[in-house]
Amino acid sequence: MARSTYPDVDIPAKSVYELLFADLADVDLDRVALVDGSSGDETSFRQLIAQIDALAGSLAARGLAVGDTVGILCPNIPAFATVFHGVLRAGGTATTINSLYTVGEIANQLNSAEAHWLFTVSALLPQAAEAAAAVGIADDHLVVIDGADGHPALRDLLFDRAAPPDVQFDPATHVAVLPYSSGTTGHPKGVMLTHRNLVANVLQCEGIIPLTRDDRALAVLPFFHIYGMSVLLDFALLKRAGLVTMPKFDLAEFLRVTSEHRCTWVFIAPPIAVALAKHPLVEEYDLSGVKVIFSGAAPLDRALAGAVAERIGCTVCQGYGMTETSPVTHAIPVAESGIDRSSIGRAAPNTECRVVDPETGRDVEVPEQGPSAPGELLIRGPQVMRGYLHDEEATRHAIDDDGWLHTGDIATVDSDGVYAIVDRLKELIKYKGYQVAPAVLEAVLLSHPDVVDAAVIGVPDDDGQEVPKAFVVRRAEGELDEAVLIAFVEERVAPHEKVRMVEFIDVIPKSTSGKILRKDLRSRVGRHAAVG
Ligand code: AMP
Repeated sequence: MARSTYPDVDIPAKSVYELLFADLADVDLDRVALVDGSSGDETSFRQLIAQIDALAGSLAARGLAVGDTVGILCPNIPAFATVFHGVLRAGGTATTINSLYTVGEIANQLNSAEAHWLFTVSALLPQAAEAAAAVGIADDHLVVIDGADGHPALRDLLFDRAAPPDVQFDPATHVAVLPYSSGTTGHPKGVMLTHRNLVANVLQCEGIIPLTRDDRALAVLPFFHIYGMSVLLDFALLKRAGLVTMPKFDLAEFLRVTSEHRCTWVFIAPPIAVALAKHPLVEEYDLSGVKVIFSGAAPLDRALAGAVAERIGCTVCQGYGMTETSPVTHAIPVAESGIDRSSIGRAAPNTECRVVDPETGRDVEVPEQGPSAPGELLIRGPQVMRGYLHDEEATRHAIDDDGWLHTGDIATVDSDGVYAIVDRLKELIKYKGYQVAPAVLEAVLLSHPDVVDAAVIGVPDDDGQEVPKAFVVRRAEGELDEAVLIAFVEERVAPHEKVRMVEFIDVIPKSTSGKILRKDLRSRVGRHAAVG
């Protein structure tokens, strides 16, 4: 077991709102908190706080009680910050929903999270309205931020001019957010993150990410995912850095916004690094303002990191974490240029780690030189979730009796306290940093009348990025081919969950208890790749 090499930070018993906004210095009030990257519109901290207070007041006046859950289905726009922090300020719990989700997926999450309200934008209203109707959310609780007939707009709620409520809750146990993650196995589950979890992670980040009020951070990573939510919407705002929002990734727009708004910190997932390293368009923009590119959410390749650093002329760092850890547990310190960029750096303050042999459960030996043998990474710290909503079994499976969260990732550690992720034990697939749960795709595949059995794993594409591949046993009499099956799945899932390759096989390898032996499928892919 190893504790972080950083000194512990003190974690006060505060709500997210109290930590971020209660003690804002006068000099910061008129600084820019948010810039809409598309329009250039700016929101100051003074305006943001006024909006958060007004929204909290309105929600309380309209019946939102402490502990009520509010869905947020919205791309990255400045108003996301108002809605998110307004809900938390009112004592509500925000369940943030992937804006690429299908109606069925939105409804599932709203239903599972027991959401009474939904905030969305007019562009997503068709799917939001259908999902809201399916779970019984009334029209007056479906707020369309930019306005639409028959629904309140954010503006209407702000015009209520109701004073923010004086809510009482214990930050250590009160659930602030409920993002969804499939964890190590199965379908997406609600991850209960308390105010203390988020407050802790923001302060832990302070120890390792040197963002200041003079920085501008590009907010292209989605706020609905814990990386954007915690690192941008919480941590960057605490540091009074300005956030420049982008509703989706488009390379030319990404380069324009980064260049025109002189972003100094750019938070990305690895597929953006591929574009930055390779695409000719990059040469056409002045990116000299960029100091740090910080990658997370999926593994960053060493050569890719080097190519980006050289081309952009900045520091490239990598962080690691998961929804269940609010999310940050590790990062490469910006100042330590000697650390391998394909590593995840050091454990954040207040974070304990173990690397254990998955067979024996014993900690691996850490040699004096070089990395340890690989083992499963276990994490203990104040950022570890309270548990999965209404799923004690999954919670017990994830967090053991001693409080260790089993990440399902395989890591090494060296005697200098530097960790690297080298493999994944769990079934989760990361496509462009987005979670794809094989169980969800397998259920869709099995609903096809000509599919007898199916298993999905992640395989590398030509750029080394992970994509979902299905192994399928088809009915002998059927006439199923790869294109038909890919189209069948595509119609039923969000775009990032698409199956991108299909291989027909005779039998899905399974253990005696019926569990899919994904390792066998992976080694089959490896063998084919090596041969082919
Ligand atoms: P999520 O809960 O969506 O943030 O997904 C968490 C998972 O993403 C982790 O358990 C890892 O499998 C993967 N992940 C996140 N960051 C990294 C990283 N820097 N390197 C390798 N895998 C990562």
